[in-house]
Order: sequence, then structure tokens, then C-alpha cells
Amino acid sequence: MAKKKICRICKRFVEEDICPTCKTSSFTDTWKGRLYVADPEHSEIAQKIGHKTKGEYAIKVQ
Ligand SMILES: [Zn+2]
Repeated sequence: MAKKKICRICKRFVEEDICPTCKTSSFTDTWKGRLYVADPEHSEIAQKIGHKTKGEYAIKVQ
């Protein structure tokens, strides 16, 4: 499995060179915790932290 980087803005795990959600290339590889959002429309956690796209997210980034 390739090492993933985390978008600093939406905290999503990204394998591409640009975050597909934010269109930014501002990444970090320092992160804590992992959260999988499978159903952002109906996930309380996803709404609370503002993730509207299905995917894997870090809980904390630096
Ligand atoms: Zn992003």
C-alpha cells in the first residue's frame, strides 16, 4: 500500500497530487486517527466535521 498523504484543508487521505475535493496540493503526512466516511449525507460525525465526500479522513493533522 502506497503511503498516503493528508489534505491539510479537508483532512482527506489523498493518493493523487491534488486533493480531488479542495483542488489543493497542500498536504501533510503528520496525522492522528483515521475515520472512514461511507455515508456523509447521513453520518453525524461527517456533518459535524464538515466532510461531504465519501472517503477516508484523518481526525487530526498538523
Ligand atoms: Zn482536501
